[in-house]
Parts: sequence; structure tokens; C-alpha cells
Amino acid sequence: RAEAALERSRRNVLRSPAAEVSGASLMMELDRAIENDELVMFYQPKFHVRRQQVTCAEALIRWRHPERGMIPPGDFIAAAEEADLIDRLTLWTIRRVIADQARFREAGHDLRLFVNLSGQLLADTAFIEQACEMITGSDATLGFEVTETSVIRDPVSAIANLQKFADIGIRIAIDDYGAGLSSLAYLKQLPASELKIDKLFVTQLTSSNRDPLIVRSTIDLAHALEMEVVAEGVESHAALALLTVMGCDMVQGFLISRPVASEALIEFLDDESRQ
Ligand code: C2E
Ligand code: CA
Ligand code: CA
Ligand code: CA
Repeated sequence: RAEAALERSRRNVLRSPAAEVSGASLMMELDRAIENDELVMFYQPKFHVRRQQVTCAEALIRWRHPERGMIPPGDFIAAAEEADLIDRLTLWTIRRVIADQARFREAGHDLRLFVNLSGQLLADTAFIEQACEMITGSDATLGFEVTETSVIRDPVSAIANLQKFADIGIRIAIDDYGAGLSSLAYLKQLPASELKIDKLFVTQLTSSNRDPLIVRSTIDLAHALEMEVVAEGVESHAALALLTVMGCDMVQGFLISRPVASEALIEFLDDESRQ
């Protein structure tokens, strides 16, 4: 027993949440967490540079664990994908986001809300049907963020399914652009209206020689394909100024706001509209 206690304390010191959360017991806990409403949606605004206002927000999930505290998505999304819980988790997320959007509207803030979709869901027919049904049965205005890497896995069905979403008014954003597997052939075929430049190229935008060149040419490419560009990971006024000159349409990052709970987002939007 002493050994077990020592092992436990060692684990607490060298906390490796990713390893812990991928354990089988945690998979069962996650299953229970979905039932018990331990999952929480946070929202991070996307600020439209030309309109000088927040027009959309991205929904980012957190797990408010009864013992471990707030667990970030990076520590459990992969486990949820492996355990085949990601479909239920994402349907829960969409339901939550639809309800939160109604509350934001009641508070006078009409924002399009974006949900992150794991790649494997783009080939999951049952999920796609249920998601479409849930969304068409509501008056929600949503978007989905998907990575290029997730499309490249099974491009034919991914593109067909993204088109189904686009047909019911869901905006498609290409997430983490430039950080994964890129293919200009697919980029051209995707029914996407938004391209998000990965924060990898944005956080050091003003201190690097190459990043501004990459960002500028990505913005030009996206505009040529008639997509709006979002820069993620905008942390400084200098980066915002440079992105503005480059014609970037929207910015997202700690400079504008960290991801916050829904009540805090309403306060943020109230403050913003008073200015
Ligand atoms: P992502 O979609 O690329 O989300 C952006 C991540 O960058 C978020 O981390 C956000 O908190 C962080 N971030 C925002 N602004 C800044 C900034 O200015 N600087 C820096 N350094 N970071 C910034 P988070 O919330 O931990 O999410 C991590 C990833 O987990 C997300 O990456 C997304 O891929 C995934 N994820 C989150 N929620 C969901 C979900 O509901 N479903 C699925 N499938 N994946 C999700
Ligand atoms: Ca399943
Ligand atoms: Ca995202
Ligand atoms: Ca991203």
C-alpha cells in the first residue's frame, strides 16, 4: 500500500495528464462526464478587423472534472476519438452551443458559433445525419472547423459530407492551416468559406523573417479562392497591426480575449458594444 501511495504521489508531481486521461478508466469517466454535464463550453471571440466588431466565436470544450479540476481538450479529445465517444461528445457539444447561442441572442448578441469537428466524424454517416437533423430543427447559425489533415484521410466522403453541412447553411472553416498535411488540390475542392492560419505562423509574426511572408501569401491565396482569413494566436498589438495591413479579415487570440465561459462572453460583448 505504501508503494501505491508513493507511486500516486510521484504521479502527482510528474503530472502527465495526457497519459492519465487515455487510461481505460478515464474513458469510462468521460462516458459518465457526458451524462453528468461535467463538460463545459468556453467561447473565444473572432474579431472582424474591418467591421471592428466580434462577429463569431469558437466553441472550445473543457472537462470540469470533480477531482482533477479543469482538464483542457488536448488531454481528452484523442482518448474520446479512440474510444469512439467523439460522436456523442460532439452531438452534446452542438446541442450545448445551440442553447448558448439562444442565450447570447437574448442578451442582444447575434454571433455565428463555430464547433470543432474531429476528422473521423467526416466519415461517420450516423453522426452526420444526427448533426444535420439537430441543426435544421433549430434556428442556430453555426460553423464547423475542420483540419486539412482530417479531409485528406478520406477526401471523397469528407468533401461530400462537408457539402451537406454547407447546404444547410453551416460555414466551413479550415483549421490549423499550414500546420498539417496540406494539399492545394483539396483546398480548391472544399466547400469552405474561411481559412484559419495556424498560430504557429502568427505568435512570432513580428519577430520572424519568414512568418510574415508565409502569412501574407496565405492571405492572398485564400482571398483568390474567395475565402475569408482568420489569424489565430494573435497575442500582440504589433501582430494585429501587421495582419491589418496584410488584409487579414478576422483575428482571434489572447489579445482580443482568452476562451471564456458563456456568462463571461456575454459580459465581454456587453462591454465591447458600449465602447
Ligand atoms: P484549436 O481548434 O486550434 O483551438 C485553438 C487553441 O488555441 C485553443 O486551445 C485556444 O485556447 C488556444 N489559443 C487561443 N488563442 C491563443 C493565443 O493567442 N495564443 C496561444 N498560444 N493559444 C491560443 P484549447 O482550448 O486548449 O483547444 C485545443 C484543441 O482542442 C483545439 O485546437 C481543438 O483542436 C481541440 N478542441 C477543442 N474543443 C473541441 C471540441 O469540442 N471538439 C473537438 N473535436 N476538438 C476540440
Ligand atoms: Ca460511436
Ligand atoms: Ca479550431
Ligand atoms: Ca486552430
